[in-house]
Amino acid sequence: GIPVLLHILFYRSAASPPSSNFLLLGPSGAGKTAFTTLLEAKSSPASKKSQLTHTSQASTLVSVSLPPTVSTASNRFRSVNDPSLKEVSRNPIRYRLKDTPGHGKLRSSQGISELQSMSSSKDLKTKIRGLIFMVDTAALVDEAALRDAATYLHDVLLVLQKRSMGKGKSSTKREAEIPVLVAANKQDLFTSLPPGSVREKLEAEIDRIRKSKTKGLMDASMDTGLETEEDVLGDDDARGVFTFKLLEQVGIKVDVVGGAVKGDPQEEFGSGVRQWEEWIGMCL
Ligand code: GDP
Repeated sequence: GIPVLLHILFYRSAASPPSSNFLLLGPSGAGKTAFTTLLEAKSSPASKKSQLTHTSQASTLVSVSLPPTVSTASNRFRSVNDPSLKEVSRNPIRYRLKDTPGHGKLRSSQGISELQSMSSSKDLKTKIRGLIFMVDTAALVDEAALRDAATYLHDVLLVLQKRSMGKGKSSTKREAEIPVLVAANKQDLFTSLPPGSVREKLEAEIDRIRKSKTKGLMDASMDTGLETEEDVLGDDDARGVFTFKLLEQVGIKVDVVGGAVKGDPQEEFGSGVRQWEEWIGMCL
């Protein structure tokens, strides 16, 4: 009856914090704009779909909703027969996605600085909940594209590592973790690399970047000493081979998950991004 409804309404509005923010980064052409547009289309009424247009030149912040059938960390044990599922369908869980341009020149000025400000924010409204790094898995067979993507990802992970290790080591409170999803996009293309091999290639390339950086540091150690070992990703001596798993020691969890924004037209609309939505759900 009405009292129950009122209770739900009040309870929800009182209990639900500002919706969580996810930052979407990645090289140009990865499919970030297409992904943002798809999520918006999935969460808006049919009439609004045609109005959605984004350019790849500026950052955009969109508010989208999680499909009701996708579980969140807080309701993962819910069964399909659970009446609260109907409640969620009427009142979907919303989150916000910030899309940033991936073009080389705009990268450091927008993507990285966006990450820096969102990851140091104490304000729930702007604070980052998770990071999605999108790559074009068909492009990664090209060495230059792989190097470009790996360099960007390396820089992103280094920001997170520095944040997690904390500049002021005196502070006892550890920063909340920022999980990373490497969204291996364009799995619909037959030339694409499967997620497992995307992971291996990125790890191997980041390893190379890291080793050449360490060598650079040793060569430069004679002069200024401006850069320190803190600037090396993973274990500080970089003797071992780099893996994403290594970053778990500093509290950074990286998942590589395949998907396709432009999926098979035979399949349900937007089903190619389902696994990424599930990852997002687990952050909520
Ligand atoms: P951005 O620079 O990361 O924003 O990339 P865009 O969203 O502009 O996408 C670049 C190109 O890739 C566009 O032509 C998209 O239509 C295309 N694209 C995006 N996702 C997919 C996908 O999953 N499969 C295929 N085949 N093409 C895609």
